[in-house]
This record gives sequence, structure tokens and C-alpha cells, in this order.
Amino acid sequence: MKKLSLLFFLSVAFFVCNCQDFNKYFTDKTLRVNYLHIGDVDLDSVSVVGYYVGGHWNGTRTHLVETTRLGDVLVEVFDYKSNTLIFSRSYSCLFNEYRTTERALTETGSFEEVANVPFPKSPVKIVFTSFDRKHNSKILSETFFDPQNTHTEPFKIEYKVVDLHVGGKSDTCMDILILPEGYSVKDKKLMKSDLKRFASYILNCSPYKEYKNRINIRAISAFSDESGITDPNQGVFKKTLLNTSYNTIDVDRYLMCLNVWKMHDIADDAPYDILLILANSPKYGGGGIYNFYATVNNRHTNSDYVVVHELGHLIGGLADEYYTSEVSVTDFYPEGIEPVEPNVTTLVDFDSKWKNMLQVGTPVPTPATAEYANVLGVFEGGGYVAEGVYRPWMHCTMKEIRYDSFCPVCTKALIDAFMYYSR
Ligand SMILES: [Zn+2]
Repeated sequence: MKKLSLLFFLSVAFFVCNCQDFNKYFTDKTLRVNYLHIGDVDLDSVSVVGYYVGGHWNGTRTHLVETTRLGDVLVEVFDYKSNTLIFSRSYSCLFNEYRTTERALTETGSFEEVANVPFPKSPVKIVFTSFDRKHNSKILSETFFDPQNTHTEPFKIEYKVVDLHVGGKSDTCMDILILPEGYSVKDKKLMKSDLKRFASYILNCSPYKEYKNRINIRAISAFSDESGITDPNQGVFKKTLLNTSYNTIDVDRYLMCLNVWKMHDIADDAPYDILLILANSPKYGGGGIYNFYATVNNRHTNSDYVVVHELGHLIGGLADEYYTSEVSVTDFYPEGIEPVEPNVTTLVDFDSKWKNMLQVGTPVPTPATAEYANVLGVFEGGGYVAEGVYRPWMHCTMKEIRYDSFCPVCTKALIDAFMYYSR
């Protein structure tokens, strides 16, 4: 992947804008592109369906072009006249998980997705590119957007925003926005205490607690018609704000939201970089997808662990370091390919991972013995498989139920993400 990215960026080096160019190319507004990601095991396509414009660009103004791709979809914005790459961001999506399911062998899936980019001053070309696990790329869509002539809708502002923690200005902080789901008006008290509780889980975990002044946490105050969460396998169907449901892509505990456009409609009321759905349900469930969104249920004995684990996927692009799971993922990390996630390696390109963080003399691979219990190493087993994929630490929050125990590699990846949102 590193080689591919390097070649890619070298090829456009002449046409890449630098950090000072925000004001040259963009206005202080947000352009939200709503699109459908459609396909099956073979087909992969994107269809843009609408453009929305909001009053303030809340994201980075200095890291306009991404240098490390952690996601499997890349959105790029090119100044149309000069063909200069002026913005890019990668993210992962539920659609690509769907494509790995048996259902995708016979059924076409259609998933809502959103790309938020700074609002351009002049006409631009917006390009969506997909990458598979072997880093093969495919352009999914190239669309032309003219800020003067393309039809846009304004963001809808409907809900009250609650500040849970304000570390600084939105422009210089990572803004986490919590969306309460399945709380009816009668759950008002519970919602209030849950929001505070989950904000404190995040802020009391390293490295969040050391970077509090670079993090804001807010919530949307919005109620669902009914209390609880849809659970199709139990015959439970609830009218909730975002239609979040268990059994997403046929995995019982996978609690996700398919109404991504509505999610962003609601979130538009607040500055946000990171969206977290807090679901009012006693049943364990959750999920987190890099730069997409995360979900967590509110009542679980290990809720503190679950929320920071899922945010690890969402914010840091971190892989699961465990390898004993009921979820069977075939070929998730193909042999001979270095994964994009910073906290796992197949040793194909370990130089690009945490090799320079190892102490001199640490054996590679590292034996999982007491001697190396709290040592940064290269331990076999991770990314759902016991062999061929290696992780940096014996017991990390991305591996097992341990709150506030991110390994040094995961910690660094999270701090890098916090820094991305700083000017
Ligand atoms: Zn880790």
C-alpha cells in the first residue's frame, strides 16, 4: 500500500496544493455530498444524489490532502481548471463489509454514504476511488460540481446541541458528536446521565485524557418516538430517530445505522468530525468504521471498554487485534499484502509500521511469554487470524476487554488523528 500510495502521490506531485491554499480554493462553508454506494461481490459503483451546503467548515484547514490512506474509499477534490488536487480524505464503509457477505453473492446492496468537503470557490471535479484489501484501486465516480450553478440544498437545523466537554475551538479540536438513539421523551433523565457517562468514559481513557484540550464532545438532544432499539432476530421493531438496528448485514450483535443521510442531517446542527450513536438497549452491540461512524449500546458491564474500542476503529483506523472470534472473516488480510491499519502487520512491509518504535534486541516475531508481557513487540495473532498477522502488544484495548489499555502503537495512531484536526 505504501508503495502504491507513494507512486500515486508522486504522479500528482506537481498538482497538489499546499496547506496555505485553503483560502485560495475554499470558502468557510461545508459541502456535503450524499451518494449511494451500490453493488455486490463483483460490482462496486457510486451514484451521487445530492449536494448540501452548511455555514461553516469545521474540519482541518492545513491537512487538506491526506498523505496516508487508512480507509477503503478515497474522495478527492480537484480544481477543475488547473486539475490541482486540493482536498482528499479516505474512509471505510459498511458497503465494503456487505460485499464480503454471502448475501452479496446473489443480491445487489445499496448503502447511503456521505462525503463532507470544504466548499469550493470555483468548479471542481470530485472523484471517488475504491481500494480492495490487496490495494487495487478502481475509480467509482467522477462528478463535476460548480459552486455557482450546481443545485444545493441548505443544511436543516432542527435540534438543540448540548456541550458535554469543550476543550477548545472547533476549528482546532476533534469534535465528537453523540447522537442518542432509542430514547423517548420519557427517557429524558436517562439520556442526560448516559451522555455524561459516555463522555467521561472517553475523557478518562488514554490518550484522550492527555489531549482533552484538543477534543470537544457534544450531543444532539433528540428523542425517538419509541424507547429501545430494533432487534429483528427477537421480533422487536422500534420507531427510532435513525432506525439503528441489530443484525446489520446478518450479524446479530452488529448494531448499525443505514440511514446515513439522516444521521448527517441531524448532526448538521453541531460542529462534528466524529459521529457516535449511543443506543438505548441492554443488548450488547456496536460497531466502528474508520471515518464513518461508530455505535455502542448504553447498558453493558463493559460499556467503558466498548466505546473506546469502537472509537479506536473510527478515529484511529485501528484493526481488531483479537483472533478468537465467532465472526469468521475469510481472507480479510490476504497473504503477501501489508494491511493499511497501523496496528497490525503481515511483516511484508514492517518498516512502514512500528519497527522504529521497537527496543533494540526485541525478537521479531516476539514470543508471547511473561518476559514480553509489557514490551512492544511483534506478537503473532491479530486481525481475526492466529497465524500470519502480527500485533504490537500482548494485551491491548483493541484485542480484549481492557479499558484504558491502548498499546503504544494504537496510542500513537489516536494522537496522530487528534493532531489531524488541529490547524
Ligand atoms: Zn493496540
